[in-house]
Amino acid sequence: MPSIAIIGTGFAGIGLAISLKQRGINSFNLYERAAAVGGVWRDNTYPGAACDIPSHLYSFSFEHQYPWSRRYAPQSEILAYLKHCIDKYEICPHISLNNEITGAEFQESRGVWALSSGEKTIAEVQILVSAIGQFSNPVVPNFPGRDSFSGQQIHSARWDHSFCVDGKNVAVIGTGASVIQIVPEIAGRARRLTIFQRSAPYVFPKGPDRFTAKEAEVLTRFPVLRTLHRLKIYASYEARIPRRKSEKLIAKSEHVFRNLLQKQISDPSLREDLTPDHRWGCKRVLLSNDWYRTLSRQNVAIVKEPIEKILSEGVRTLDGATHVADAIIYGTGFAPSDFLRGLKIKGLGGEEIGKAWNDGAEAYLGITVAGFPNFFLMFGPNTNIPGSVIYMIESQVRYIVRMVEAFDRSKVRYMNVRADVQKRFNQRLQSHLRRTVWATGNCSNWFMAASGKITTQWPGFLFSYRRLTRRPRRRDYTSV
Ligand SMILES: Cc1cc2nc3c(=O)[nH]c(=O)nc-3n(C[C@H](O)[C@H](O)[C@H](O)COP(=O)(O)OP(=O)(O)OC[C@H]3O[C@@H](n4cnc5c(N)ncnc54)[C@H](O)[C@@H]3O)c2cc1C
Repeated sequence: MPSIAIIGTGFAGIGLAISLKQRGINSFNLYERAAAVGGVWRDNTYPGAACDIPSHLYSFSFEHQYPWSRRYAPQSEILAYLKHCIDKYEICPHISLNNEITGAEFQESRGVWALSSGEKTIAEVQILVSAIGQFSNPVVPNFPGRDSFSGQQIHSARWDHSFCVDGKNVAVIGTGASVIQIVPEIAGRARRLTIFQRSAPYVFPKGPDRFTAKEAEVLTRFPVLRTLHRLKIYASYEARIPRRKSEKLIAKSEHVFRNLLQKQISDPSLREDLTPDHRWGCKRVLLSNDWYRTLSRQNVAIVKEPIEKILSEGVRTLDGATHVADAIIYGTGFAPSDFLRGLKIKGLGGEEIGKAWNDGAEAYLGITVAGFPNFFLMFGPNTNIPGSVIYMIESQVRYIVRMVEAFDRSKVRYMNVRADVQKRFNQRLQSHLRRTVWATGNCSNWFMAASGKITTQWPGFLFSYRRLTRRPRRRDYTSV
């Protein structure tokens, strides 16, 4: 069997490792830069961290009997679940921690990837898989004066557990998915929370998070009913896909949202501040039961004025106001469209992948890239969805395992996806994406690369991605 290197130990790396093992392929190693496994669920330990897709779907299809304590499991439980999978499927011996891969260069004459960590070449493998995720590198905007701030500065994805919020004035920058989980958790303890909002999100209620005793019993004891429950959640996400292109359905969602906001926020001026300036769905639609209730508190304020700079005592906005703060929490997210950040990948003829992706990343099925043979991406370009990413990851797992098996049978030196196949696939994809609310909804979102091309999102149904990735087609690849 070919030698395989997998970079990353989040859901993608672990899911692939398990599947390889189940197919009798043991010739793989996982490289993890951190001191522990778990990907985003190791890194995002902020107060209130939880998934926002129900756990019965946000879990592997082959391991969905798990005693989730809540519909949307907290971070610690999801991390424990991943560790449970690693133990159960005996993946641990394959994992190398504290091992950051910084580059890989394809040696065409021998058909191997030389893997480097810093200055050293640490391995040569026939197959290379990047499972480094879209959300593993936190980003803080380069506000002038950041270094002069005298208090603590914390990014949501690198929470400092020594930080005590009690009685503090806290500035929170951003109103994305992490912030709407953090703020309700800390608002009751902080003296004052000032939230700097660039654009108000659409936030809908999550619904009941706790299972009733009866639900818990049914979901634990009856595998068939658990599978049906999973299917029902899956279908509810599939049903939302057409909404992203239909003006009528987008307008309907906006109407529902406005009615909900009216019910939850009685102060008209606050309601105006919280009304999004873009179409429903253009940015990620968020879920929370407590966000609006928390924003009505006396000690919480929304500031819409843009930030000018950071001062030693707080945050200065463009209108000249100084917002005094003892600490700043950055909910400023990640750089998902900056794929393979931190990795220098050189393919055929020494071409660097960053150069091939000048206008924004693209791949065939989000998995393979012309000129980079025997190299596979997981959760790669255009595979993010407003649903369970694990479903997409499992489609990629199946595709990659089949490619590995085909490679092994064929005894060729390498397999390279055809440039024309990749181009045609991406032309169709981009023409589809241009018609979605992500492109037409009057917002700037993190789905786009600097060039304006949408590089992170999959616009279609999840089952259509599953169908396309079901079986690799020999004719899509040249073999050497
Ligand atoms: C706070 C948060 C909540 C989320 N909630 C949901 C949700 O509810 N539903 C959903 O579908 N998705 C959610 N996501 C998206 C989530 O990223 C995916 O669901 C999934 O966990 C991605 O797994 P992954 O293995 O691809 O990447 P990651 O989990 O990011 O794992 C990548 C791993 O690669 C390692 N790595 C990176 N670079 C290197 C390197 N150079 N060398 C070695 N190792 C490296 C990282 O340390 C990390 O361990 C959430 C993301 C975040 C940040």
